[in-house]
Amino acid sequence: MLGINTVNYAYLIAAVLFIMGLRGLAHPRTAVRGNRMAALGMLIAIVFTLLVGGLEFKYIIIGIAVGAIIGAVAAVRVKMTAMPEMVGLFNGFGGGASVLVAGAALVAAMYHVAAHEADIQMKVATVASGIIGSVTFFGSYVAFGKLAEFLAVRWKLYIWQKIIKYGFSLIVAGGGIWFGIRQGIDALSIGLMVCGILIGGVLLLRKDRFPGMNILKILMALVAVALGVLVVLNPGNMMLFWLMVAAAGLLGVLLTISIGGADMPVVIALLNSYSGLAAAATGFVINNNVLIIAGSLVGASGIILTNIMCKAMNRSLANVLFGVMGPTSETPDADEVYKTVKSTSADELAMMLETIQRVVIVPGYGMAVSQAQYAVRDLAGLLESRGATVEFAVHPVAGRMPGHMNVLLAEANIDYDKLKEMDEINPTMNTVDMAIVLGANDVVNPVARTDPKSPIAGMPIIDVDKARTVVVIKRSLSPGFAGIPNPLFAADNTLMYFGDGKKAMLDLIAAVKES
Ligand code: NAP
Repeated sequence: MLGINTVNYAYLIAAVLFIMGLRGLAHPRTAVRGNRMAALGMLIAIVFTLLVGGLEFKYIIIGIAVGAIIGAVAAVRVKMTAMPEMVGLFNGFGGGASVLVAGAALVAAMYHVAAHEADIQMKVATVASGIIGSVTFFGSYVAFGKLAEFLAVRWKLYIWQKIIKYGFSLIVAGGGIWFGIRQGIDALSIGLMVCGILIGGVLLLRKDRFPGMNILKILMALVAVALGVLVVLNPGNMMLFWLMVAAAGLLGVLLTISIGGADMPVVIALLNSYSGLAAAATGFVINNNVLIIAGSLVGASGIILTNIMCKAMNRSLANVLFGVMGPTSETPDADEVYKTVKSTSADELAMMLETIQRVVIVPGYGMAVSQAQYAVRDLAGLLESRGATVEFAVHPVAGRMPGHMNVLLAEANIDYDKLKEMDEINPTMNTVDMAIVLGANDVVNPVARTDPKSPIAGMPIIDVDKARTVVVIKRSLSPGFAGIPNPLFAADNTLMYFGDGKKAMLDLIAAVKES
């Protein structure tokens, strides 16, 4: 068994490694090293926590084994395009763990000291951990369900989607009823049953908004806080704690389900921040310094990331959380906008590329979907071997999660020096001979600059329309994330090269080699 000083020194080293890890993650060149440092910090924190003593190892080993298997399988099998929902789900586990630890600490406190004697820090932190953790757990489940397209949708679901959707609702509603009945019928247990049924029911709805929803949100926030105050005053009453957790859970569901599926990456960053705050609060519950530090780091970095994403879309957080992103009655009709669209072929493009000096490739969500990053690297290499300069213009919210394009291009070993940020490339865009837009849409839509009424008005974009020739590779004229037409596709200097991103790239490479 180790002394508390030794453990705290180890926690300090772990905390320094977390901070150095985060610093490393800020740049692609140092990101892998940063990740390893943070992982080492986590290993130190876990090992020294286990060495404190007085622990029942049987369950801990089972827990570590199950967690490690789930983590390893997810790391290997989950596709890059499914990363946002996986991150969403894992945030939720963090929130759920905080609730359980806080609940267990409350039970333990009841056995060791008279409940009313538990110190105020522990009681307030338990309430904070319970509320924030529960909002995070249920909110993250909704974020996962909306991104995996089985919550709040009208279409037919696959069998696995049905199992998760109906299974989860059944467990939550059934659990609330069972737990309530077991406690005997009184106001608290009826409240718990009602919350369980409401959470399960709302998760089964096929739409994301219903009348009276905002009033219910405000009501649940007030109920959760009021119950939190009661828990602080009566920490011995566990039913109060669980009712507070259930009310916060319903709040988490209502807050998240009304946000459009497309805004989920921002919500996930926000929930990530909440999961950190819940962990920090849990650190105060169990007096664990490294949990307080790690939780605060996650909380702060999550909110910074949320802010970066909102800025890159020129939207406020309130607009993301409470507004609706999408076409309005003033959005022009796609048929009108696309009257003058011209399409091209691989052979025609190969001919044009023979004389071209400067090429800029703008990747977007379609590159991720079609996994075209390797083909795009090969095309860039081929053009460079013929004397052209090739750069990649990366928009901060291209794709479906922050850094999505950077990760894919790094995966294909594209030299980081070739990646240019929007502010760097835009002033030189009029000297670009050919801009190749690969599966990007909103991030190159000039209406963001020209139409103040557009849903993406004011969003900074990559000014590909200023290049001499623009080639857009996508499968159809269908809209991107914002759901609005893109006049770039019909511009005089634009050629549409229709097809799946990867196949189109491979065909183009073959044509360039033949020309
Ligand atoms: P986008 O506007 O969503 O457009 C993606 C385009 O990819 C679609 O128009 C689609 O057209 C095309 N596509 C899909 N599958 C394809 C395939 N297999 N091959 C070729 N093309 C394919 O994407 P974006 O320009 O990257 O913009 C990202 C959007 O997400 C922005 O509106 C941003 O605000 C939003 N957003 C991003 C984040 C983030 O963190 N990155 C967070 C929140 C919101 P077809 O169907 O015709 O092929």
